Amino acid sequence: MKSIYTCPYCGAKSFNPWKKAFAGGLRTKGKVCMECGQHCVNGVASMIFSAVVYIAALVVVLLVYFKGNSNWDYVYMVGAVAAAFVLCRLFDAFFGPLVKPIRNDVLS
Ligand SMILES: [Zn+2]
Repeated sequence: MKSIYTCPYCGAKSFNPWKKAFAGGLRTKGKVCMECGQHCVNGVASMIFSAVVYIAALVVVLLVYFKGNSNWDYVYMVGAVAAAFVLCRLFDAFFGPLVKPIRNDVLS
């Protein structure tokens, strides 16, 4: 089985969960493979997951903003965004393969 930590260019298993979690999405520069020096990013699954999670977080923030009336509203809103960020990093760390970025400026 092909590892999700395998570089899409050279096939070396040069990523770990921590490094992959911060490799970023398709439209970012990604992280450089230690073996071949090419940029690798998290793929479409990661992009879809983060979109869904951030929309959910946004809904929570708006609900709290308009409906909330406790002193903790601000904490809930920040917490929702922080939770979304952590969820996305966890997803990137353990799910979805690494792919080549679609940005042209990182290929040169
Ligand atoms: Zn590589």
